[in-house]
Amino acid sequence: MEHCRHIGVISLFPGMLRSIFETSIPGRASMKGLVQFHYWNLRDFGTGSYHSVDDYPFGGGGGMVMKPEPLADALDRSLEALLDLSGGLLPRLVYPSPQGQVFTQGVAWEWAGSSRPLLFLCGHYEGIDQRILDEYLLEEWSAGDYVLSGGELPCAMMVDAVVRLLPGVLSNESSPVNETFSNGSFDYPQYTRPRVFRGKEVPAVLLSGDHQAIRRFREEVSRKKQQEIRPDLNGNPAGVSC
Ligand code: SAM
Repeated sequence: MEHCRHIGVISLFPGMLRSIFETSIPGRASMKGLVQFHYWNLRDFGTGSYHSVDDYPFGGGGGMVMKPEPLADALDRSLEALLDLSGGLLPRLVYPSPQGQVFTQGVAWEWAGSSRPLLFLCGHYEGIDQRILDEYLLEEWSAGDYVLSGGELPCAMMVDAVVRLLPGVLSNESSPVNETFSNGSFDYPQYTRPRVFRGKEVPAVLLSGDHQAIRRFREEVSRKKQQEIRPDLNGNPAGVSC
């Protein structure tokens, strides 16, 4: 049995993440015991009779800010639990944020290669009180250059990208080593049956049985597409080391 990774999330909507992580590849990885997901509902750490988690920003401005006390309590509780579960390994604390470095396949490989648990703090509103970022040294990672309403979707994207790289999660046939980004280019176009679909034929070389010709065809087509669409990826695109 491979080593089990622990992944925790602190969120106002843990149900969103639970439904994603119980499905498809993350769900199968967890059924196989390769990963364990842990959820903390931030509302449980809210203050007052309404379990409040947000407050007005000092200095004015629109919107609300996630206040520090519930965040600190949730972080303390989840950190302690993850430290315990992983035999004392310090979790990597991730705050999905549009102000972070952009998450890439290279980062996914790096996180997948470490045994440290991952703990995600999903923000909402205008974000979290800066003192939490400073006190807990949260790493800010962005899903891309756009603003989402909350950290759950970026968290789900990052977790999915990491989990599918954990040893034993994907079968050998669907090895992630040859995928887009991991070889400095794009993956090649895929075709399946039927051989003719709405008058469009599968490229003849794929039916030729000539493995060298097939490899050359796939390399050429994928390189051409990558150079047209993502010329910036030439070489070692996403800091990938695999
Ligand atoms: N006021 C913040 C700003 O302009 O930087 C945006 C806050 S956003 C509405 C609410 C939360 O969604 C953020 O705290 C963050 O957790 C998450 N979020 C939004 N866009 C994101 C992105 N591109 N990548 C990662 N997380 C994001």
